Amino acid sequence: MDFALAPEDEAFRDELRGWLDDRLPKFLAEWGEREDLDDGGGGGEHGIMGAMERRRAWQRTLHEGRWAAINWPKEWGGREATITQNVVYSEEMARARTPGIYNANGLWQIGPMIIRWGTEEQKAQWVPNILDAVDHWCQGFTEPQAGSDLANLRTLAIRDGDDYVLNGQKIWITSAQIARWGLFLVRTDPTAIERGAKHEGITAMILDLETTGIECRPIRDITGEDMFCEVFFTDARVPATSRLGDEGAGWQVAMGTLGHERVGTAGLAITMKADLDSMVSLARSENPDALRDPGLRERIARAHTDIEYTRLLNYRALSKILKGEPNWPEVPLAKLQWSHLAQTLAELACDLLGPGAVLSKGGPDAIDGGSWNRLYVFQRYTSIGAGTTEVQKNIIADKAIKLPRR
Ligand SMILES: Cc1cc2nc3c(=O)[nH]c(=O)nc-3n(C[C@H](O)[C@H](O)[C@H](O)COP(=O)(O)OP(=O)(O)OC[C@H]3O[C@@H](n4cnc5c(N)ncnc54)[C@H](O)[C@@H]3O)c2cc1C
Repeated sequence: MDFALAPEDEAFRDELRGWLDDRLPKFLAEWGEREDLDDGGGGGEHGIMGAMERRRAWQRTLHEGRWAAINWPKEWGGREATITQNVVYSEEMARARTPGIYNANGLWQIGPMIIRWGTEEQKAQWVPNILDAVDHWCQGFTEPQAGSDLANLRTLAIRDGDDYVLNGQKIWITSAQIARWGLFLVRTDPTAIERGAKHEGITAMILDLETTGIECRPIRDITGEDMFCEVFFTDARVPATSRLGDEGAGWQVAMGTLGHERVGTAGLAITMKADLDSMVSLARSENPDALRDPGLRERIARAHTDIEYTRLLNYRALSKILKGEPNWPEVPLAKLQWSHLAQTLAELACDLLGPGAVLSKGGPDAIDGGSWNRLYVFQRYTSIGAGTTEVQKNIIADKAIKLPRR
């Protein structure tokens, strides 16, 4: 990848910076500097819905400036951004520490798939809904027996006249409890797994989660938040017009969707650098002795170097994805690297900031309102989500090192 910015990329960056300089301070003044996803069990404006209203407002602000869906075609409100512009965008957003987005899944993954696979009616119905943050969207792929081995999914959708009838279960579906719509993968050919052709007979569907027979049950996670759900289907009848793409073409739809998932990681190194800077600066006031400890000083220096390495590796991985080239070894290496570093940094923060850092939200002595404690436990997700550590290592062993299989 060529790191030098072409004049049009510099213009893109300058336009984005100028827009952020103008709009972000106004937004933060109106909506507050931080979001709080913890509803303390009570919901309401300071709980998950309060945080989501802030995200909705930020997405709409972005959309007003045509900055919400930069990869979408211009006719659908996008900018058809290039590879370099994607990197610039992710880094500028990370540098400005912009708020979360209401429909991140929808903007990065589901919207592009509807534009690619949907009929004209489906596009007209759903694409503006995602972009304008009218409804929240989720992505329903994982099942209890189909996570890393996604093609093993078994939620059944049997055709009955103009409808499909759904039975089965999904799990770990982010924010399904507040979503109206979701892109789901279901099995329309139940014989495919027995035939040894599990990638066949999978179909993608856009489901209305208010349909009778679809039930979302939130799961309380390690942070104490309810950000995931199990989704149960019990004779849920959905119209055949819910289908995205042909019956049995769901695997192709899913692979395109997951490809888009990785594009969002380009700014991670910037976010990590900001986290490192803020934990060091906070340590000066909260736990100054730690900064004289040779072991901790070495860990800070190593983290600094690793962040830069991660940034460069992410560029290479992203470049391959967006060019549509075989994505190994850079993509699995980058995934391993950022997940490891995210956890290492969270551990470093606790050691640097001292006992107050591990106190959780609500405690009077918790540093930064308990946000470092939350980061420490939340970062455990990084070795599971977007492909587990063991699976990435398998890909590297198989594709890059070409280790013999037993
Ligand atoms: C933060 C977060 C958000 C998520 N959001 C969503 C969402 O919105 N929608 C959705 O559909 N899913 C979502 N998921 C689920 C995610 O896709 C799965 O957790 C992931 O695919 C792993 O599947 P699993 O949890 O079933 O673990 P498993 O695949 O069962 O893995 C369990 C353990 O076995 C290991 N393992 C599995 N296969 C192999 C192998 N072949 N060789 C060696 N070791 C192996 C794994 O590395 C892991 O340690 C989310 C997960 C996280 C953490």
